[in-house]
Amino acid sequence: MTLNNTQYRLAARPVGIPKPSDWEQTHEPTPEAEDGQFRVQVDYLSLDPAMRSWMNAGRSYVPPVEIGEVMRAAGTGTVLDSRHPDFHAGDTVSGVFGAQRYAVSDGKGVTKLDLSLAPAPVQLGTLGISGITAYFGLLDIGRPEAGQTVVVSAAAGSVGTIVGQIAKIKGCKVIGIAGGAEKCRLLVEELGFDAAIDYKNGDLRAELRELAPKGVDVFFDNVGGEILEGVLARLARGARIVISGAVSQYNSTGPGHGPANYMNLLVSRASMTGFVVFDYASRYHEAVAELAAWLESGQLQSREHVVEGGIEAFPETLNKLFTGENTGKLILAL
Ligand code: NAP
Repeated sequence: MTLNNTQYRLAARPVGIPKPSDWEQTHEPTPEAEDGQFRVQVDYLSLDPAMRSWMNAGRSYVPPVEIGEVMRAAGTGTVLDSRHPDFHAGDTVSGVFGAQRYAVSDGKGVTKLDLSLAPAPVQLGTLGISGITAYFGLLDIGRPEAGQTVVVSAAAGSVGTIVGQIAKIKGCKVIGIAGGAEKCRLLVEELGFDAAIDYKNGDLRAELRELAPKGVDVFFDNVGGEILEGVLARLARGARIVISGAVSQYNSTGPGHGPANYMNLLVSRASMTGFVVFDYASRYHEAVAELAAWLESGQLQSREHVVEGGIEAFPETLNKLFTGENTGKLILAL
């Protein structure tokens, strides 16, 4: 069967937010599966802020995507035909298939999904990397205790919505930081956060002073920059800061905005720890089991922002992460 593929390849290393000219759309027939391979129709693409950093040259925790290469992207799909002993036509699978309609895979890093557990978009988000990041980042690095104050930035996003809800399950007071009144309303009225600060319209430091009078015990930071500095100014003694990401810096064209007031760590006897979810790969099953149980019991709500755009909408959909247009896990339906 001939499958005409549509792909997005990296055409240039972006300066700032990716532009249409940073991408090349290519069309080519999908190769037949050889022995030990199978072909996948990609149904849902996961859009992740980290994809922006993979577009840069230079050292990171994974190699950069090279110019001319199909953009690296996780997704879920359906096996169309297979010459692999463990994967069969009709299986629903999850893996890093790239920004393309069809992929040929040898099965490495691919898992079969049990759709009776949850629909595929939920398994890309809450039961996928976002949920696992929230789970281990908060519980292993943040180590919140009941009654403590937990703050999370990009709180209405995929990771942030889950961090805040897990902290509530653990009996903490939870403050979200997000852009816009509607996101803040959702956090408090629908997801059970105790308070939310609209960093685009408020005075972050003044609001934190009021909402966290005894200081912040755990800060799960997805944003970096000025928001990190604002929370550093309000730490409780022994606070733990989880550096999950720095989305405010991913498109910056100048030198990164570092925390000028890092000496607050010393004053507060606090720690700031970088976290990469891949280091927990051998324990993913623990997180998924507990997250699934919380979903089942209704203690955890999953939010997906699915764009029904097809592969052609890949470049503009990715940028929604940087303009803050998504609420919950951003996914492109192909
Ligand atoms: P997300 O939060 O669903 O989407 C990104 C959000 O970031 C946007 O909705 C926007 O929300 C906010 N944002 C964008 N630009 C901003 C800016 N300049 N200042 C402040 N906020 C900004 O994305 P996600 O997939 O859940 O990822 C969240 C973070 O987790 C990212 O930093 C990502 O790199 C990190 N992450 C880390 C790991 C790990 O292993 N360390 C794994 C997965 C993800 P607003 O409307 O609120 O601005």
